[in-house]
This record gives sequence, C-alpha cells and structure tokens, in this order.
Amino acid sequence: MNIKRNYEYLLSDLSALKGVGAKTKSLLKKKNINNLFDLLWKLPKSYTDRSLSSKIKDLRIGDIQTINIIPKKYNFPRIRNLPNKVICIDDTGEIDCIFFNSYEGYVKKILPLGKEITISGKISYFRKKYQITNPKYVSDDSSIIQKVHNQYSLTDGISEKLYNKIIGQIISNLPNLNEWHSKTILKNFGNINWKDSIKELHKPENIGKYKNNFYQRLAFDEIFSTFLVNSEIRKKIKKVKKKNKVINLDLQNKIINKLEFSLTNDQIKTLIEINNDLSSNEKMFRLLQGDVGSGKTIVSLLAALNTINSGFQVAVMAPTEILAKQHFNLAKKLYPNRIRTELITGKSEYKKKKEILDKLKNNSINIIFGTHAIFQKKVHFAKLGLIIIDEQHKFGVNQRKKLSDKGGDNCDVLLMTATPIPRTLTMTIYGDMDISIIREKPKRRKPIKTYSKPETKIEDVIKFISKEIDYGNQVFWVCPLIEESKKLDHSSAIKKFEYLKKKFPDNVALLHGKTNNQEKENILSDFLKQKFQVLVSTTIIEVGIDFPNANIIIIENANKFGLSQLHQLRGRVGRGDKDSTCILMFKSNLTDNAKKRINILKETNDGFVISEEDMKIRGFGDVLGFKQSGIKNFKLADPIHNSDLFLLAEKEMRRIENSNEDISKFKPLIKLYDRADIINDIA
Ligand code: ADP
Ligand code: MG
Repeated sequence: MNIKRNYEYLLSDLSALKGVGAKTKSLLKKKNINNLFDLLWKLPKSYTDRSLSSKIKDLRIGDIQTINIIPKKYNFPRIRNLPNKVICIDDTGEIDCIFFNSYEGYVKKILPLGKEITISGKISYFRKKYQITNPKYVSDDSSIIQKVHNQYSLTDGISEKLYNKIIGQIISNLPNLNEWHSKTILKNFGNINWKDSIKELHKPENIGKYKNNFYQRLAFDEIFSTFLVNSEIRKKIKKVKKKNKVINLDLQNKIINKLEFSLTNDQIKTLIEINNDLSSNEKMFRLLQGDVGSGKTIVSLLAALNTINSGFQVAVMAPTEILAKQHFNLAKKLYPNRIRTELITGKSEYKKKKEILDKLKNNSINIIFGTHAIFQKKVHFAKLGLIIIDEQHKFGVNQRKKLSDKGGDNCDVLLMTATPIPRTLTMTIYGDMDISIIREKPKRRKPIKTYSKPETKIEDVIKFISKEIDYGNQVFWVCPLIEESKKLDHSSAIKKFEYLKKKFPDNVALLHGKTNNQEKENILSDFLKQKFQVLVSTTIIEVGIDFPNANIIIIENANKFGLSQLHQLRGRVGRGDKDSTCILMFKSNLTDNAKKRINILKETNDGFVISEEDMKIRGFGDVLGFKQSGIKNFKLADPIHNSDLFLLAEKEMRRIENSNEDISKFKPLIKLYDRADIINDIA
C-alpha cells in the first residue's frame, strides 16, 4: 500500500482508516470530525494500564490489572442463572474467573486447563478469594494485552476499542513534515518537531501536561496559523494601491473647535492613526475599538469629513435605522452646510429613494447614512472613498473581506465596535485589521453607580424609580434572560410589562424578540423623544444608540449574564450629564463567587478589564463576539493560559511580514489548521 505521507495524508477522508465504515464515519461527522487531522485532536481523557502488573498475591482489589494464570478447574453449576467459574492459579495463589451468561464451550475455549493465559479485568475479593468477573481481555498471547489502552470521551456508537484502533493507525502513519518554524521559535519549545509533539500528546502519561514542550508547541502552531491567515488577508488588502486622500487639517480643526467638549487624548490619537491611513497609498482596513460611550462617533465623522474634503464620498452603515439617523443628525449639526448629507431608511418613499440613488451616482451626495440597505446591488457610488461600519461585531472574517472588496480600490474601510475584548482575542478575531483603541473615557463622564438587590426587594426598586420618573428621568428595565426557552423569555417580559404598567400607567412600553423591526424602531424613537419613561425589554435593545435622558437601568436575573454583557447593558445609560444608576437584581442569595463577579462590575467601568475577568470566569468561547467571528474554537490553545504564546506568535508574524519572508514553507501548517476556512478564498 502506498499511502501519501505528506500533510495531505492527514486531510484524507475518514474512510482511509481501517475499521471506519459508513456508520462510524457519519457518527464522527456529527462531531465535526471530517478527516484524519480532526481525529488527532480527539485526546484520551484517561487510560487503563493493561500491561502485566502483578502476581496473584499482590493484586490490588478494585483496580484493573493484568496477570498470567493457569486454569486449574472448571466449576459449571447445573442451576440456571448461577455463573460459570474457573479456578485459576499462578505460583503465588488462586483466583476465580467468573462468567455470567456464558456457554461452557466458550469458557473452555478461552481458558483451557493447564495452559498459561493472560487475563485482564477489575479485581474483586469474595469469600476470602480474589476474583475477576467477565475479564475484558483473555488471551494466550500476552503481548496483545500488555498495552496501555486510552479512554476517550465516547461518541455514541463508537467504542473505546475502535477509537484506540483508528487513532493508533493515524499516529503510526504520521508523515514527517518539514519544519516550518524558525530555529529561534523552536528553541522556545525544546526543539521538538511537530510529529513527535503529536505522539507525545497522545501518550496517556502525558494527559494534562499543558506546560510541556510538545503541548506548548502544538498550541503555538494553532495560534500562529490563525495569525498567518490574518496576515495574508491583510497583505492582500494592503497590496491594493489606492489614490491617497489629501487631508485638510484646518477644516478638520475648525469643526473640532466648534465642539462643546474637547477630544480625549485617545480620540486624538486614533484620529491621527486613521488620517495617516487615509492619506497613504495603501487601503485602510481598520478597527476602531472602544468601550460604550468612549466617543467613537465623533472620531469617525471627522475622518469622514476629511475624506469628503478630499473629494470622495462616504457611506456610514449602522445596524439599526435609529442609530443611522442619530449619526445623520449629528453630521448635519457638525458639518458645514455645503456638505450634502443623506439618510436612507425603510420608511423613505420610493421616489425619494430613487432620487438618492441618482444623486449618489452623479456625486451630488457627499455622505450617506443607512443600514445594510446602502450596500445593495442597485446602489452605485460615483466616488466612494470610505466605508464606516458601526457596531458590526457580528461581522465575521469572511464578511469583512468581502466588504472591503466591494468598496472598490480607492475605498478605505473603518469598522467600529463597542465590544472590548481581551487582547489575545482581539489578535485572533481581528488580526486581519489594523486596530485603534480608545481606552480613555470623556472626562465629564460620571461613573454609573452599580448596586445589587434580591428580587424580594422589588418594592424598594419601584420606590427608587418612581422618584426618578418624577424628576423626568427615563428607565430601562431588562427582563430575565431564560436561555432554555425563548417562549418563557417572552412571557416573563410581558408579565413584567403588565406589572409595571399598573405602577406607571401610560408611561411604559415593551420590546421583545417578536416585536417587528419597524415597530421596534418606532418604540425606540418614542423613547428617545421622551414620550414615555419606562422601557421594558428582553436583551434585544441594540447597542450604540445614545439615550441621554435615560439614566437608570434595572437588570433582572443578572446572574444569567456574563460580566461583559452586563457591562454592555449598563453602558446604555450614563451618557448624559445626570447621575446614573444600574441595579442588578438576583433571584436568591448570591454565592461568594457571584458576589466576587458583581464586585468587579461595581469597582470598574473599564470594559477591557471586565472582559478579561469575564473570560477567566467563562472561558473565551462565550466572550462577546467570538462565536460570530467565524473562527472555530481552539483545539489546544487557550487565550487565558497561553497569552505568552499569543504574544510570541504576534511578534513572529510581524517579523515575517516586515522581512517579506517567503511563507510557502508554512503551507502545510496553514492548510492543516485553517481555522476560519477561508484560505481557499484568499489563496
Ligand atoms: P460610542 O463610542 O459608544 O459610540 P458615542 O460616540 O456615541 O460613543 O459618544 C457618547 C457620548 O459622548 C455622545 O453624547 C458624545 O457626544 C459624547 N462625547 C464624545 N466625545 C466626548 C468628549 N471628548 N468629551 C465629552 N463628551 C464626549
Ligand atoms: Mg457608537
């Protein structure tokens, strides 16, 4: 047989393995195991040592052990349901082999009298004698069972024996791959190569040895491959040469001087980063990351202004119409009259829409605001120079890449997100982009006072908000998130709505998952116009919208949310000049752990710090945005425990980028580990 022994062997279909038929294949596919490489990450959880362990006199009761014995006497009872027994010996003692539900003939065959046989099984002690019941392995060839058997967490329908067999096959056929890492990198991992690392990884005695070289190397491979793919996308985008924008700082500063506040240092810093990109010949592909309320909008509108003043058009896309409208209004207020701004919404009449489309095409609109509608096929720009996308943390790697292509060669791309995530995850999820971060909050901003209350004290909460309502303030009331059931979610929100309506007649509205988009926009817009003061909702309140008059948020069943999510919710208030309050409500007494979590929220308002803590508590898979990123979970690497490896991988990736090193030697690594499944798209 001539099996291809390069990396392609590992990408072979599962049926290349002996013992894998159609049934096993489909069972594995259900677990997302599609080729041999995927099986390599199915790791033993524990193991049974079936190597020859002992003489009869030294047997340990309760353990699985393997011994050589000689069958001496059969004891086959005539009474039904009593087990068959074989008395066996070695030179140190006696042991009974017990067989339930077995035929005499079978027992005689596997344990012939007078012959040395190896048996393996769990040892028990009964009526002062050792015994072994239904021994798992019985053989006259002791070499067969003098082995260690890995125990896997089983997929329904696939036995441990089968796993051992198929994974064993791959391990013994592992190809010798040319080393892809530099000597310097390898030194970090004791120079161990990929193949040996995999072998070590599967050795039962190495289970859980996360600190060892083999484990670290493989985790590094996984991280580094992700970074390489990111880097390839970035390079590809940078290769596009564009016409640079010429930035008129006087015009920009005129607007800045008109603001009723001064920009924070981070706002200035990120604006400079963006301006540098705009005025370069390389296409911008940048993420502006900053906590809720950090003031990203103004930075993006200044960048838009610079683009317009350089003779280009700008498109600003927001996830909801109401947010698009808010940006549009701000632009109209900020920009000089000569700049022609437009808003396109679902409500716009056909005639109006058509007019806008025509104007975009003949360059008589400078900047357009809208939802994803502004990127429909029929929308043509005369001279699009910048796309700004707000709050699109739901965009995956693939979507971003497509968007960047869509704008055309001269079009820069700026994405904004108010989802602070740990740095290791930012590198992973947004590694294809350049990143600007606003950490500093505007100075005037008052901290949001955060309290926790048991649900039994709901009357106190009502008293508190009654007072606030009398002052003319507005309240968000977030209903329990019941993960198990959308239906329950829904009905609990309705119940709370009814309850609050009685307390505050004609002053409460409800938003839930079933509210349609237009209705939702209407309710939010009425809330913004202060037509009512209490908004009850499930967690669907969209991010980004500025409700300056809302200064209270009540979050029920707060322990159901992660810290980052609570922080996001809390960020809906506290944007205006008023004191603001967040009340976290809980069903019953909090555990010490839950108290600790809540204290993090009370102590800090820094979304980056909170997201680090959140990740430590819940693991990175649940951190906001990761699931939508289109990047599969890591198999070995862990953004919490391997942050050093992430940093090392980033450094190495930059080194390779800067030295223009040929990356073809990484081909097997990228092909094997492509975690976003996009390499074919960009290759
Ligand atoms: P986000 O980063 O969440 O998008 P916004 O851009 O909506 O935040 O800004 C939130 C609020 O902060 C807005 O009302 C905005 O006018 C205000 N703001 C922005 N920058 C500053 C600043 N430097 N000083 C004071 N207020 C600011
Ligand atoms: Mg925003």
